[in-house]
Amino acid sequence: MASGLPENVRKSCEMLLGTTIEASFHVGDGDINEARRLETSGGRFFLKMNAAPQAHEMFAAEAKGLALLAKSHTLRIPKVIGHSEPGDNNRGFLILEFIEAGHRRADFWSRFGEGLAALHRIRNKYFGLEYHNFIGSLSQFNKQHNNWITFYIEERLLPQIQLAETQNQFSTKDHENFDLLFKKLPQILPDEPPALIHGDLWSGNFLSDEQGAPVLIDPAVCFASREMDIAMSKLFGGFDREFYQVYQAAYPLLPGWEERIDLYQLYYLLVHVNLFGGGYIQSVRQVVRRYL
Ligand code: ADP
Repeated sequence: MASGLPENVRKSCEMLLGTTIEASFHVGDGDINEARRLETSGGRFFLKMNAAPQAHEMFAAEAKGLALLAKSHTLRIPKVIGHSEPGDNNRGFLILEFIEAGHRRADFWSRFGEGLAALHRIRNKYFGLEYHNFIGSLSQFNKQHNNWITFYIEERLLPQIQLAETQNQFSTKDHENFDLLFKKLPQILPDEPPALIHGDLWSGNFLSDEQGAPVLIDPAVCFASREMDIAMSKLFGGFDREFYQVYQAAYPLLPGWEERIDLYQLYYLLVHVNLFGGGYIQSVRQVVRRYL
C-alpha cells in the first residue's frame, strides 16, 4: 500500500487516471466520506471513498450532478475524472480535479452571488430530474412533476417524514400537523419556474480556488424553486451579505421570499433528523407550527 489506499481502489483509480499513484494524503474529511489528495506523475487529484453498499450509486449520481452544473458555465465545478461502478468489487470512489485552496479574493461573494443567479436562470419543463440522487447519504427522489407544490410534498417532505417514521421520530400530532401544513402550501408558495439548483448549498459545499474564486462541490441537483438554495444557505447563519445583495440585483427573488425561507429549510431539517438524529426534531416542529 505505497499509496496508502486499499489495493483494489488504487488499481481501479490508476486504470482511470492512466498513471501511477505515488502517494495519497487525507484532506478535511466531509460528513460522509473519506477524502484524499492523490499525487501522481500526471498531477494532483481529489478522491472520495465510501464503503457503504450504495456508495457506487451515490458517486455516480454526484458525478452526473457535477457534470450538469458544469454544463451551465456559471460557477466553477471540479472536473469529474471517474468513479466506481455498481458491481465493482471494492469500496465506492469518485475522482475529481483537485482544487488548490486560495484566499478568497475581494469579489468572492459578488462572483458567487452572480454565478448562483446565473445558475438559477437555467430552466427546465418539469420540477425534478431524470434520475434520483442523494443528499448526504440519503436518497433524494426526483420524479418529475409539473406542479412545484406536489413536487415539494411528494419528492421532498414526505420521503424524509416516512424515513423518520421508521425510527418513530414523530408523534400522531406531528403527522396531523404535517397534513395541515401540506393543505396550506398552495396559499403560501408562489408559482415559480423550475430552476437548476445546487440542492445542498451550505458553507461546507463550496471552496475558494487558487485564484480565490468560488467553486461548488457536493451537489444534490434538481430543477426546483431556487428559494431552496437560498434557504439552505441561511440554515446555519447565512453567507456574506454581499452574496445576497448581488444575487438579488442579478435575479430578484419573488416578494415575500423571506417568509418562505423556514418552509424550505424544513426539508433540510428533516434530512438532518434522518442523518444526525432527534436533536433537530424541535426545529422541525417550530417551523411547522409557524405556518399553521
Ligand atoms: P462529503 O461528500 O463527505 O461531504 P466533500 O465533497 O464535502 O465530502 O469533501 C470533503 C472535503 O474535501 C471538503 O470539505 C473539501 O475541503 C475537500 N474537497 C472536496 N472536493 C475537493 C476538490 N475537488 N479538490 C480539493 N479539495 C476538495
